[in-house]
Amino acid sequence: MGIEHLKFPPIVKVQSICHDLLEKHHIQLDMLRLDSIHPTISGNKWYKLWFNIQEAQRQQKKKLISWGGAFSNHLHALAYAGHLFSIPTIGIVRGEQVMNQTLQDCIRWGMELMFIDRATYRNKNSTAYIQAIEEKHPDAYLIPEGGHNALGIAGCKFILNETQWANYDICAVPIGTGTTFCGLVQSSGGVSNIWGFPVFKQSEYIQQEIAEACLGYSNWLIQHGFHEGGFGKTSVALMQFIQQFDTKQCVLLDRVYTAKMMKGIFECIETQIIKPGSKILAIHTGGLQGNRSVN
Ligand SMILES: *Cc1c(COP(=O)(O)O)cnc(C)c1O
Repeated sequence: MGIEHLKFPPIVKVQSICHDLLEKHHIQLDMLRLDSIHPTISGNKWYKLWFNIQEAQRQQKKKLISWGGAFSNHLHALAYAGHLFSIPTIGIVRGEQVMNQTLQDCIRWGMELMFIDRATYRNKNSTAYIQAIEEKHPDAYLIPEGGHNALGIAGCKFILNETQWANYDICAVPIGTGTTFCGLVQSSGGVSNIWGFPVFKQSEYIQQEIAEACLGYSNWLIQHGFHEGGFGKTSVALMQFIQQFDTKQCVLLDRVYTAKMMKGIFECIETQIIKPGSKILAIHTGGLQGNRSVN
């Protein structure tokens, strides 16, 4: 599929989920299938990249540089976008040099990979480090890890429209950097409640970050405790959940993000943390390419 299939905002289908538990608690659960917008740039990454690529072109930058782990959905999407828009890309990858299907795709789409040690990677947002990169690549446009910047948030404001907001009591999304979450909150117009499910353990700081980014909005909630042991960690229960969801709903979930959110939603329904009778929209943020890499 070429560039003509990548519209912004893309057309996204909504799918209703049927399940005994939902019936029992009179819950309406729909899924916004961002995973289906494009076979390669799936999910929220397209929304986060769109305005960044526009801005890079406006500034007449000649390449795009970003950061990520070895299984990064973000680097994968960026490499493909660079390929489509004919903009060279550089991916700075956390950790020692490795190879896997994600990175092979990136290379195939022309991304240059640079591996940096974890200690240096931790400093990736420091002024000194960024300045050094800018000096070395004056013709490059820098996108933070995960597309976590103001233009990333701006793109995520296009995920839902007003009509969709009005239809649901709760809109649920997994949280990595929180960029998608902030875009949703800021475009909600105060309607509905946005629930975020962090997929990593140390998630307290994200509460603070989001509070600052979403000043003036109170219609959001972070559900800690559904990370299944931490970022990239899985459990037997999570793998079973993915299996059952695929069999029953014909929806494949990725183990890093969407599966943790969906399992969290089901648990909140069961424990009535989500009130019976609620209408919920869960956002399938994509990321299925990552499933190939882990074991
Ligand atoms: C990157 C990613 C997320 C996290 O999005 P943030 O905007 O960083 O919070 C969620 N789901 C999937 C599938 C992703 O690839």
